[in-house]
Amino acid sequence: MQTRFTPAQLADRDIAVADAILRKCVHCGFCTATCPTYVLLGDENDSPRGRIYLIKDMLEGDKAASPKVAMHIDRCLSCLSCMTTCPSGVDYMHLVDHARERVAETHRRPPGERWLRRLLATVLPNPRLFRLSLWGARLARPVAGLMPPAVKALLGQAPASLPADPPLAPGVYPAQGMRKARVALLTGCVQQVLGSDINAATVRLLNRLGVEVVVSAEAGCCGALVHHMGDRAAAEAMVKANLAAWGKLGDLDAVVINASGCGTMVKDYGFLLRDDPDWGARAARLSAITKDVTEFLSGLDVRVQSPAAEITATVVAYHSACSLQHGQRVRDEPKALLLAAGFTVKEPAESHLCCGSAGTYSITQPELSRQLRDRKAANLEVTGAAVVAAGNIGCIEHIRGGTALPVVHTVQLLDWATGGPRPARL
Ligand code: SF4
Ligand code: SF4
Repeated sequence: MQTRFTPAQLADRDIAVADAILRKCVHCGFCTATCPTYVLLGDENDSPRGRIYLIKDMLEGDKAASPKVAMHIDRCLSCLSCMTTCPSGVDYMHLVDHARERVAETHRRPPGERWLRRLLATVLPNPRLFRLSLWGARLARPVAGLMPPAVKALLGQAPASLPADPPLAPGVYPAQGMRKARVALLTGCVQQVLGSDINAATVRLLNRLGVEVVVSAEAGCCGALVHHMGDRAAAEAMVKANLAAWGKLGDLDAVVINASGCGTMVKDYGFLLRDDPDWGARAARLSAITKDVTEFLSGLDVRVQSPAAEITATVVAYHSACSLQHGQRVRDEPKALLLAAGFTVKEPAESHLCCGSAGTYSITQPELSRQLRDRKAANLEVTGAAVVAAGNIGCIEHIRGGTALPVVHTVQLLDWATGGPRPARL
């Protein structure tokens, strides 16, 4: 694609990056077929190619984001399905990240939207506030029908109950037997509250396989939530806090992440801080050793020689989170691990399509999100599986809202098959 940035514009390093991305697009439109919003809406402006044109026009013209551009960018899930489809290697992720920043800086949203986004950016990254808000949501649920759609969606997202496991305490969790590796585990912000059972299973499993796990008291939200709302300054502050926290832990073989949305973000820390003279090199080193938990486990021996009958009798439908399959290109490892542990694994139709969770998307775009969730749930149910496994807390919570099937994290099943407790949800 031809671009028309001036030399003065290209002196801005972010514009220079956008220019290089735009030039790779050859307008072929292959990406439209796998874009969930294009599949639902059939509007070119809600396809990757259409959004690329809108972004190009906005950036080349040094324009503020118009309400139309903001709407089509907001509707993008950042699922990155377009990136794994594109034959030209267009880096849509960094282009839309840039566009979201321009939208945040130049587009004045209606007061209700501004309030909602501020609320999400304040509450979700803070586990204490998030826990409190869940109590509030439960109290407000009986009057949810009287609330505006976004608030109704917010209340509808609050789970009826939380796992019995307490949040994972900071500290060192020693390896069983001879230590094979030493890793830091990101316990997440939302996941600490909604998925404490996932964190507990992750530590048990890694320890059982000879891995020492360190949980830093100072590491917090990965920054993805605010980054995807276009707030670069807030995201960078969180990134630097995590880099400082993990920098104090000594030698690490890996930073292991069991929420793939967070993993995609941490793997991008090097890019985010690429021009920062104080943090750039540290961020790049950290990103290079970051691994999704299933990616890390694939380097260990998780085979179960004689799986228990209840394991071999369990049919699992594997939901491939977008951040894992498209963002990190980790596709086969989770399924191979489940098979090695003795489970029967089914893959649903349209496995490349997003479930509609996408960070805060299920709250900011409730209708599109619900349509995608119901489509995903139907595809999962038709496999005949008894349980759904996924690698991202957002997908897990979201899909639970659309199906009666139990939905658990892949590591919970692996932990169970290798001697841990049966997941409480089963
Ligand atoms: S990230 Fe997903 S929703 Fe956005 S343009 Fe690409 S495929 Fe479509
Ligand atoms: S598939 Fe790639 S090159 Fe083709 S239109 Fe989409 S982004 Fe552009």
